[in-house]
Amino acid sequence: MLELLFLGTGASVPSRHKATSCIAVRGGSDMILMDCGEGSQRQLMISPFSFMRIKAILITHLHGDHVFGLPGLLQTMSLSGRKEHLTVYGPTGIKGCVDAFMTVTEGETVYPLEVCEVSGGEEFAVGDLTVSVYRTEHNIASVGYTVREKDRPGKLDREKALSLGIGDGPDMARLKNGVTVGDVTPQMVLGPSKKGESLSYTGDTVPCQSVIDGSRDVTVLIHECTYMASETNLAKKHKHSTAIQAAEDALSAGASHLILTHVSNRYDELSVVVDEARTIFENTVAANDMDLFEIRNGGMSLRPRAERSSHQLAEFLPRPAFSLVRIWHRAHHLYRWVPHPSIQGRAPQHIFAPLLEFKNDIPPAIGEGDIFGRVIEGRSLLNAFYYSQNHEVVVRLIYDAHEVI
Ligand SMILES: [Zn+2]
Ligand SMILES: [Zn+2]
Repeated sequence: MLELLFLGTGASVPSRHKATSCIAVRGGSDMILMDCGEGSQRQLMISPFSFMRIKAILITHLHGDHVFGLPGLLQTMSLSGRKEHLTVYGPTGIKGCVDAFMTVTEGETVYPLEVCEVSGGEEFAVGDLTVSVYRTEHNIASVGYTVREKDRPGKLDREKALSLGIGDGPDMARLKNGVTVGDVTPQMVLGPSKKGESLSYTGDTVPCQSVIDGSRDVTVLIHECTYMASETNLAKKHKHSTAIQAAEDALSAGASHLILTHVSNRYDELSVVVDEARTIFENTVAANDMDLFEIRNGGMSLRPRAERSSHQLAEFLPRPAFSLVRIWHRAHHLYRWVPHPSIQGRAPQHIFAPLLEFKNDIPPAIGEGDIFGRVIEGRSLLNAFYYSQNHEVVVRLIYDAHEVI
């Protein structure tokens, strides 16, 4: 399984609800960061992923919205005592970029830092993941990356293994993991291997054949989608893609799913952009900051926010469902909120169900300015925010100014 966390989905500049490009990929204990726009380290800090576990950083190109977060993240890792080797990959210029930042800031990392320039066609391993690089076409040197899991051994035929003299226990486990035991090879007792999951990230690009070739048969194609079809000329001029073009690339590449990102701030409603892409490629969604997707068994799903732990619920979502919920009243353990019309009347129990901090003395339906809830004794709730998106409501609580639960 691969996990895919969108830390920043904005184009060109950050906005109130979007950070600039940054995506984290996790496969088992291997973690990769793809692009590192301004503010990425802070997004990581409020996410369920740890920035200290990053093994490689893949930069698609050196425009600021993809790289301005890199020097800060490298230095924070150093200040946090990182010891493990880190490799940064990027197109021509990435070495000069990192060197310049380190020189002018007199910065130095306490961990081994390697910077590799790539131009397309390279392949390398990051732990158990394989990364291949493909060329893209933007108005500056640029590349895209495809990340693949290893294929997994097929199903073990236990009866057959037993008949070949393999007992239950370590030998059986070895065979299952693809290791030969005596005269018995894994091929003799294992079914067809299962294809590992894969994803491809284009960074900024016009639609082009090298993107299609580099993303061949991936489970998920993450394609930039700065514009809609009505702005095709602008897309061409600035060397970006439209929703239609991203969908055409996904179709040609044989991808199973398409995630649009880097959508221009001019479009308020991502659903309109997605609808346009779906006229060509049905399995399309658009990413919001902090969306966490799971890629498994050849499919992709957005992890439902309500199923996450309260720690994982602590997230910034792009569009606040209300202006401000605040008002901590220490003496009475009460707080008040001003809900967005979209969730007026919904039962707060439903919304707060994942958060055990709340007791049941709350009204049956949300009304503007309702005061309800009682925070578990001993905790000082300073702020509570909730956000609504696609009819999912997420609560963000801040305790003691720093601790986010
Ligand atoms: Zn960009
Ligand atoms: Zn760019």
